[in-house]
Amino acid sequence: MYGKLREHLQNELSQIREAGLYKNERVIISSQDAVIRLESGVTVLNFCANNYLGLSNHPDLIDAAKSALDSHGFGMSSVRFICGTSDLHKELERKIAEFFGTEDTILYAACFDANGGVFEPLFSEADAIISDSLNHASIIDGVRLSKASRFRYNNADMNDLELQLRKAEDARFRIIVTDGVFSMDGNVAPLDEIIRLANKYDALVMVDECHSAGVVGATGRGVTEKFNVRGEVDIITGTLGKAFGGAIGGFTTGRKEIIELLRQRSRPYLFSNAIPPSVAGAGIRMFEMMAETSELQTRLHQNTEYFVSRIREAGFDIKPTKSAICAVMLYDAKLSQEFASKLLEEGIYVTGFYYPVVPQGQARIRVQLSAAHKTEHLDTAIAAFIKTGKELGVLK
Ligand SMILES: *Cc1c(COP(=O)(O)O)cnc(C)c1O
Repeated sequence: MYGKLREHLQNELSQIREAGLYKNERVIISSQDAVIRLESGVTVLNFCANNYLGLSNHPDLIDAAKSALDSHGFGMSSVRFICGTSDLHKELERKIAEFFGTEDTILYAACFDANGGVFEPLFSEADAIISDSLNHASIIDGVRLSKASRFRYNNADMNDLELQLRKAEDARFRIIVTDGVFSMDGNVAPLDEIIRLANKYDALVMVDECHSAGVVGATGRGVTEKFNVRGEVDIITGTLGKAFGGAIGGFTTGRKEIIELLRQRSRPYLFSNAIPPSVAGAGIRMFEMMAETSELQTRLHQNTEYFVSRIREAGFDIKPTKSAICAVMLYDAKLSQEFASKLLEEGIYVTGFYYPVVPQGQARIRVQLSAAHKTEHLDTAIAAFIKTGKELGVLK
């Protein structure tokens, strides 16, 4: 029987290759950092990790993880409600709620699971979910798992959101769902406007802070800090896999009854293993660091401002950004790939994105800044961008 499926899969795979859409994975043999070593032996400056605060390799987090390994062992071997809850999980959940100014938190193995498990227990046929068109794949999948009616509004388009809210007026409960930062452009959701419309149309609000938590806002509390609406959002989801150390783990934080019900009914929580003690221990230490100082945010914001302003001055076309993501627009898919491979030769690791990850004709290089970048790293990258831009005729 496999013979037929094999043939089918071989066909699919060659179509992916022929379309130029085959994803090859570059192998890193060092730790994740501003400077990384690739399998080929070359050392490059890394501008495509979600390591926004440079915590992926932070000595304090490594120490905290080691000490949790010593005190609590390697694995939990259980889901939370059977025998997978440790004091470290409880403390981490409290720390996350303190950080966001929310009432309670539930941990998941990843934010993909948090988003996958949030809608189905809370909303049914009688309800409506109104979702931004550029929301993350995990939100789209999570919404599909619920029986609620679905409405979609154009990215950050408040007129369209209002139109959809009107269409959903008959629903029992309505919830507006948005990413905090949209990862391909680096723009933020207009949360002040979203909350105004939510109040007008009696809707709940959910924000996915994966690319914004730790990054956006003077102290990195995310888009609720940026728009001064802490405590006004009903549900926040996020990840420990990006700015917050980059290992693994997701969470939903918000109103206490919502979290309480998720602990009873959310399938990725009830039927999947608890995160390991080392990850919880390092997470606790990480949130303590966040409470002590916001110097990493200050450095990240300075680095972003420095890079973006110089790239713009050089004549590149960049998307307006409000995050640590800088999308350098090249429009042509092939050009984006050529640009990225020339940059790699210059020792700068970035990724070129093209359709279907971004709309047709909107190919780009996405640069992600980090607090771990030193000024000389930024200068090296800027010089390489300018050199490559001239060579490929993007700059005059
Ligand atoms: C990365 C990301 C996720 C998934 O987070 P994981 O913890 O890696 O599963 C979910 N939502 C958004 C917006 C993301 O950027």
